[in-house]
Amino acid sequence: MSELQVSVTTIAEGVERRTLPLPTGPRHVHCYVIDGTLFDTGLGLEPPAWGELDIERIAITHFHPDHVGGAEHAATETGAPVYQGALDYAQCELVWGSRDWPERIAEWFLTHGVPEPIALELIEAGHAFASFVRFAHDPELLSEGSKLDGWGVIELPGHADGHIGFLRDGVLVGGDHLLAPITPAVGLYPKSRPDPLGDYLASLERTAELDLRIVYPGHGEPIENPAARAREIIEHHRERLDVVEAAIAGAPQSGYAVSNAVFGENLSPQQRRFAVAEALSHLERLVREGRASRAGDARNVTYTAP
Ligand SMILES: [Zn+2]
Repeated sequence: MSELQVSVTTIAEGVERRTLPLPTGPRHVHCYVIDGTLFDTGLGLEPPAWGELDIERIAITHFHPDHVGGAEHAATETGAPVYQGALDYAQCELVWGSRDWPERIAEWFLTHGVPEPIALELIEAGHAFASFVRFAHDPELLSEGSKLDGWGVIELPGHADGHIGFLRDGVLVGGDHLLAPITPAVGLYPKSRPDPLGDYLASLERTAELDLRIVYPGHGEPIENPAARAREIIEHHRERLDVVEAAIAGAPQSGYAVSNAVFGENLSPQQRRFAVAEALSHLERLVREGRASRAGDARNVTYTAP
């Protein structure tokens, strides 16, 4: 296995950031080493030599591949225990531990109007991606209020249902809960909580109230005004809810049709997957706000704004 190109930045006293390249998306992901804790682990394909560092424990913010994928390797290299959110680990096992998850997710996308050729490509991409993910089995489980070496665990559902953050002295190691300038994806998926955008907006409200000094995010630069950024993202979703509502005015539309209207028609299957999931999280929020209704059956779901 070739050594991965890792860039190391000391961003504050005792806070070391290790940035790993990603083949897709934001093209990089940050891991942090603070007082012997490694926060997040990158993908599992070409893991860095974590064993050279003094790591006593490994903490995972959420189960997405670029955060949890290198956990098994990091644990083996360092001999350190892995800590992960309880709900997050359950979903991690469901998604990365079951062989037919890509088929199940593709099936579900068909019910939301995704054309079959795109669904088939998603199955292929899903299996290819799963080979990058080597999560650590049977981690120590964390939940709201858990303590880890002086860090307090807070649950921040939204970007992932079981997303957690680590809080100490006004510092939040936040995973993908709060990012800048990109906006974290918030999607509805099979077996996810029913209203991920509602969860996310509540988590953002909470973040704005926490009196944070700085957030160390999974992608992008540290966020020095977390409350303002949280409110900006709330506003972004309020505006997008209006756009989604307009897209279903007058006639029933599938999640796929809404994703075309909101995110455009020229997307790769992988981008389409996020676009449909994102459209659906907004549609389900609109249903809960009384601004849309859901119709159809288990094979064909549509939404309409009255
Ligand atoms: Zn993520």
